[in-house]
Amino acid sequence: MQLIIFGPPGVGKGTLSDMLAEKHKIPHISTGDIFRKEIKSGNSELIQYVEKGLLVPDSVVNKIVEKGLKQENCRNGFILDGYPRTIDQSEFLENVLWKLKKKIDLVLNLVASEEEIIKRLTARRNCGKCGAVYNLITMKPKKKDICDKCQGTLVTRKDDEPETIRKRIQVYEEETSPLVEHYKNKKLIFDIDASPRPRTVFSSVVEAVEKEIPKQ
Ligand code: AMP
Repeated sequence: MQLIIFGPPGVGKGTLSDMLAEKHKIPHISTGDIFRKEIKSGNSELIQYVEKGLLVPDSVVNKIVEKGLKQENCRNGFILDGYPRTIDQSEFLENVLWKLKKKIDLVLNLVASEEEIIKRLTARRNCGKCGAVYNLITMKPKKKDICDKCQGTLVTRKDDEPETIRKRIQVYEEETSPLVEHYKNKKLIFDIDASPRPRTVFSSVVEAVEKEIPKQ
């Protein structure tokens, strides 16, 4: 099961990828998570892109994804979240998968209105310690500002500040959304209404995977 979870920032790609990865016991490869970890451990080169909502250069992202896909834990499948984000990245991905004798089975395109996306990004909080994601409207922590999993303090991601949210949506429209057409032409895309609550969207995701990848 080789999947891409696609959609604009804040639509719920990370949460749904986590849920699906847990259900199918396959790795969730999130380029955004990888970059945030890198920044936390001192790689200051990436800050200029990630914290401003700009895309990290293709050459950097591609190398990281290629390394991830070659790992033994991707033998039975993987979920790509936040990658590819440009046509060049998608072409690079096809090339790498071809060399590994793999292919993408399905691209789940999460769809929600811009108003809903802005509402979600504004309400999103992350654990500063373990990175777990919360939402003050749909996925509240049990204790205010405290992570349920590790008791770390919840913070707002730098790129979830209003100014940067607008930039990220613009970058998505200009550089990433052309991939919808690209995967439509390859008959790989399946639209999912991502406006309901995460549990409901997850049921649609599971249904889509069962329908589109029948052997799973
Ligand atoms: P995300 O958590 O997926 O929203 O990603 C956070 C940030 O990481 C993005 O705004 C970009 O700066 C960077 N990033 C993540 N994935 C990619 C990618 N595939 N290509 C370029 N930059 C990326």
